[in-house]
Amino acid sequence: ASSVETLEFQAETRQLLRLVIHSIYSNKDIFLRELISNASDALDKLRLESLADSTVQADISDLHIALEVDRDARTLTVRDNGIGMSRDDLVDLIGTIAKSGTAGLLEKIKESQDAAAAQSLIGQFGVGFYSAFMVADKVTLRTRRAGTDAGTRWESDGEGTYELQAVDGLPVGTSVTLHLKPVDGEDGLADYLAGWKIRQIVKQYSDFIRWPIRMAAEQTEGATGTENDGDAAVETLNSMKALWARPRSEVTEAEYTEFYQQISHDWLAPAETIHMRAEGTFEYEALLFVPAQAPFDLFSRETKRGVQLYVKRVFIMDDCEALMPNYLRFVKGVVDAHDLSLNISREILQHDRQIQAVRRRLVKKVLGAIKTTQANDAERYGKLWDQFGRVLKEGLVEDTDNTQALLELVSLPSTHDAERPTTLRAYVERMKDGQDAIYYLTGETRATVENSPHMEAFTAKGYEVLLLSDPIDEIWADRIPAFDGHRLQSIAKGQVDLDEPADGDQEADSERSKREQDFVALLPWLTTALAEQVKQVRLSSRLTTSAACIVGDADDISPTLEKMFRATGQ
Ligand code: ADP
Ligand code: MG
Repeated sequence: ASSVETLEFQAETRQLLRLVIHSIYSNKDIFLRELISNASDALDKLRLESLADSTVQADISDLHIALEVDRDARTLTVRDNGIGMSRDDLVDLIGTIAKSGTAGLLEKIKESQDAAAAQSLIGQFGVGFYSAFMVADKVTLRTRRAGTDAGTRWESDGEGTYELQAVDGLPVGTSVTLHLKPVDGEDGLADYLAGWKIRQIVKQYSDFIRWPIRMAAEQTEGATGTENDGDAAVETLNSMKALWARPRSEVTEAEYTEFYQQISHDWLAPAETIHMRAEGTFEYEALLFVPAQAPFDLFSRETKRGVQLYVKRVFIMDDCEALMPNYLRFVKGVVDAHDLSLNISREILQHDRQIQAVRRRLVKKVLGAIKTTQANDAERYGKLWDQFGRVLKEGLVEDTDNTQALLELVSLPSTHDAERPTTLRAYVERMKDGQDAIYYLTGETRATVENSPHMEAFTAKGYEVLLLSDPIDEIWADRIPAFDGHRLQSIAKGQVDLDEPADGDQEADSERSKREQDFVALLPWLTTALAEQVKQVRLSSRLTTSAACIVGDADDISPTLEKMFRATGQ
């Protein structure tokens, strides 16, 4: 046999290995995701290379990944028939961390006391292959680069050195054999030799990898969906069905629905399907759905956002808050970005400019899809608004970038039609001559709003008033200054007396001063008597049957909001 060479890991690699082994990740299962992702990349590379360069005599007829368990030896092997590595590749790629800034980053990680911070720092570069040392005390890698005859064995216990040896007769591709540490529940080490565990991890993290991930079917289980490969039954563990990666024209409605149901656990078809691909500097695919029915926990504190992040078909995380604002938490789906580290952390995603750009684009797409439904199918839109209107209104407070788009979507109860809500656009089209503001009144229920004394003059004079009784209405209506150039005006606040004659109208002036004469004694007396409760008592033209009503200052918070604040102890 050829001689064995012992080499040292680069200093940074040693430090990184120590960090990985001493559990940076609480979730050890991800080692398999990393190795499968490397194998998948290697298969992609071999196919590309053989298509681009016909001198590469590679067999690409059955590219796949195989997982092999040896219970007696306690090893798990991840094998691919992809591009493989030369001896020099091994030294450069596995023995060295080529990424710039690694040293500085490692310093910071060592200094940071808390594990979560360290984890987010390490997410800035992929620990990839090294994650194998979380679960294995020795790793043996055998590989042969396509187009060459020389194979190499690489082996290390992850301490300070690794061995290299030339080996003959290896197939093209790479096999990574993990000599597993003993099972230790406390350390998060599951039994990675158990078929069910392997299947579970593959399903969770690698289901949409586009190459088959195969494993010998266990005899006892009489597994379904097996194919006969020689004498041993072989099972393909992943579905490979990454619908989002296929062109829209090649996906049927039924496939979208099935996929949606699989990721959402919903039994209905989605109300909206949004499928897009972005090319250019930051490539990604997105497949998003608006459900037909709101989940029961839409307003609970624990509700998660429904968008999953993938990187090149490898599952990275659920509930990716960096990709969807809170008010679109009901949107389900998948975003698959091509140029992110598999270990990217939530903190880093939140601050990544490209991710922020993706999010802006996705929000526009979702709002655009809802707008299209609003324009084309009033009935379907009405149902959608019933389900998600209350959450969408949160966007009027949260998302100043899309205020206009959201204002166009909003659908609100109004005095115009007791049965059907109106859009602001339709309200504006119905405004009376000389009316410049959009009138609304907020309250706890629709009945209290409708029966409020504030309504009297508006009803009597035929002005339409929006009847707002969602708690969130208080907040957005107060913040949004105008729609289409028309102020939003609460009829419970400030000077909104109707038909108040303009100053300088002599006849009206004398009429007003005559009326004020009648009350000259009463008003100051009332103001003094009610000094604790009110700032001022005024004559009003806004009442028709009630004797008096309480009006807030233009910049006061409304009574309902005041109640809400008091209830929450603010
Ligand atoms: P990353 O995948 O982010 O580059 P890894 O630590 O996972 O980082 O892998 C380092 C490099 O080693 C890969 O970029 C690749 O060039 C090489 N490599 C790892 N596994 C394989 C494999 N199965 N086949 C071919 N090359 C591999
Ligand atoms: Mg990798």
